[in-house]
Amino acid sequence: MSTYGIDLGTTYSCIARLDSNGNPEVIRNNEDNSNTLASVVFFENENNVIVGQVAKDNIETDGDRVVQFVKREIGKPDNRTYEFDGKVYTPVEISALILTRLKDIVESQGDTVDDVVITVPAYFGLEERSATKQAGELAGLNVLSLINEPTAAALSYCARQFQEDRTILVYDLGGGTFDVTIIKMSMTEDGGVQKITVLATGGDDTLGGKDWDDKLYDFILRACCDENGLLPEELDAETRQDIRSKVEEAKRKLSQKEKTKVRVDVNGARTEIIITRNDFERMTADLVGKTMNFVESTLQKVNAVDIDTVLLVGGSTYMPMIKNAVEEKFPGKVQQHDPDQAVAKGAAIYASMLGLSIDNVEGENNIASVDGEGEDKHAELAAKFTVEDQTPRSFGPGVVDTKGSKPKYIIENFIKIGEKMPAVATKTYYPIEDNQERVRLRAFENRSMDDSLIPCVNEEGEPQATDPAHMVKLLGELIVNLPPNTPKTTKIQVTFKVDASGVHVEAINTATNDKFETFLRTASDVDIEKSAVHQLRISSD
Ligand code: ADP
Ligand code: MG
Repeated sequence: MSTYGIDLGTTYSCIARLDSNGNPEVIRNNEDNSNTLASVVFFENENNVIVGQVAKDNIETDGDRVVQFVKREIGKPDNRTYEFDGKVYTPVEISALILTRLKDIVESQGDTVDDVVITVPAYFGLEERSATKQAGELAGLNVLSLINEPTAAALSYCARQFQEDRTILVYDLGGGTFDVTIIKMSMTEDGGVQKITVLATGGDDTLGGKDWDDKLYDFILRACCDENGLLPEELDAETRQDIRSKVEEAKRKLSQKEKTKVRVDVNGARTEIIITRNDFERMTADLVGKTMNFVESTLQKVNAVDIDTVLLVGGSTYMPMIKNAVEEKFPGKVQQHDPDQAVAKGAAIYASMLGLSIDNVEGENNIASVDGEGEDKHAELAAKFTVEDQTPRSFGPGVVDTKGSKPKYIIENFIKIGEKMPAVATKTYYPIEDNQERVRLRAFENRSMDDSLIPCVNEEGEPQATDPAHMVKLLGELIVNLPPNTPKTTKIQVTFKVDASGVHVEAINTATNDKFETFLRTASDVDIEKSAVHQLRISSD
């Protein structure tokens, strides 16, 4: 039984496990000679689908048969699909191809991948989370759980050094996204358990290493023109492709060296361009500034909290300019350990902790004897941490407010963004009228912090306009059948419970103790019938 942690990234993915000493290790992608796998899929033909660097190399020449950045589409409402050779692929299916490739990498090295934890951005809503889980299942993986990327990074950092209470700012600059997360790690009084809580999130999902690539591309392109006395529009497509295919490597070299050379065939003539790290830093200074502004605005969300450690995560933090800028703001507090692997390693630690607790519950395995001494260390880790994530959205039922002059159908936000998961809330409601036969209890997800707001459907289930900023989504409904002659004063107790895997909705008729429940993972789980009004109301009068 092998347990793995997977960082399913926008641009690069990574898979890790704990070695026999209980230390996290990344499984090397030998084919691409890398610790990571480019999250790029090339549909070469009907019979050949390629994932990884080779697929990435085909972006310039065969762009229309290549899918990248699919993580931006997963679980999104517009249901985007891709078609190749008469077959339609959903973002879930494309993601499953990337996960399958990671699984193959492990299997080619003689292990099997059974249980996994997959990481997701802290800001992913239920639907994106559920779609990610589905992708894992489609790839034949048993997804034990999902974990937020910054939480995983913090976990891999904790595993190196245990400390007192700490507030950590995770600065994650990847290929296409920038995420700032402020996390609190706390020790309980008995000194053992360490808790990880997400305090605030911020960032920009369109800012990443790709923007640095683009600046470098423009610079090299202009230099090629200058060298050859050409105007940019006089450069042929091959020259542009040639430059494009070389920028990322040049960028990576500049993380190590003060200058690098790029050779380009400009309209057939060999041209050599020298780029210094200074040049590169000058042309991208505004991008660094942008990330620091997001750091600032995220800090403002948790007024006056002292940051003890800043953790640099994401491949783009290999660029010295990033470390320098962050060091300048947080002198002496910056930590950076394998930034492109930290998330996968943290997921591997969490996966093994979960694997252990499952074993414990089942009472079948003696922890210490499963895998020799490594398991002891897992047990030690498991005893040390509880991971506490926050609700990524607000949740609540649609109910009728009869207080005003006209009854109003509203969402009552039971659970708000940022509550500790699992989050549970209960409230009592009443049937609209005597002898009501049934209640359609609708569950909504939204991004509002208000106590109540307008739902995206009306009482009859017809779509209606809402504030776009609230991103209101109907998750599903629970049908509550009431026995004959139920008076409208009957108390119906409604409970929402939200954890990382979804929303559990429960209704109890307190007169009969009849219990109704449903588990909602996505809006597509349940067909919502557009139908007559069968709701609950807020007050008993
Ligand atoms: P993701 O965006 O999928 O989370 P990563 O965290 O692995 O992926 O970040 C990928 C980005 O990091 C890419 O833009 C890549 O070019 C960049 N990167 C990786 N290594 C280096 C390096 N040594 N120097 C500069 N950039 C790097
Ligand atoms: Mg990442």
